[in-house]
Amino acid sequence: MPRGKKKCPSCESLVATGVSSCRCGHIFKKKKVAKPKISKRDILKRLVEEPQKNKRVFYQKEMKFLNDLVDKYSLEFMNVVNFHRQFESLTYLRSPKLKDTLDKKFRAFNYVVDESKYPQYNLGEKSGEDRFVKKKRITVKDFLEDN
Ligand SMILES: [Zn+2]
Repeated sequence: MPRGKKKCPSCESLVATGVSSCRCGHIFKKKKVAKPKISKRDILKRLVEEPQKNKRVFYQKEMKFLNDLVDKYSLEFMNVVNFHRQFESLTYLRSPKLKDTLDKKFRAFNYVVDESKYPQYNLGEKSGEDRFVKKKRITVKDFLEDN
């Protein structure tokens, strides 16, 4: 296959990769970028301590609590939030203190996400020597860490 070309599956002619339809009428479907699937089970495993007994019932119950949290916050958030400890149950996150912490983390999470959507460029005119400004990279993880 030549670079920058793709083959039309209907008429087998080579067309430029960027086009969305072939002259023969074939429409190229956009490749879906698969979102990495977030496993709720993995979130639970990270956040709660697995009991010795009654695991099935435990996970059923905790999954329900997790779903409530996902409704309130978001799955992406629950996937990254970190308390550096495991709870006996997600119900702990309903206690006023932890709920407050969770709300703060969620605000931080949204703040980081929003800012990444609007990158800031320095459009000022350059004068004098280039100054090397080392910008500290702040990651979502930094924001969500307990310090
Ligand atoms: Zn074609």
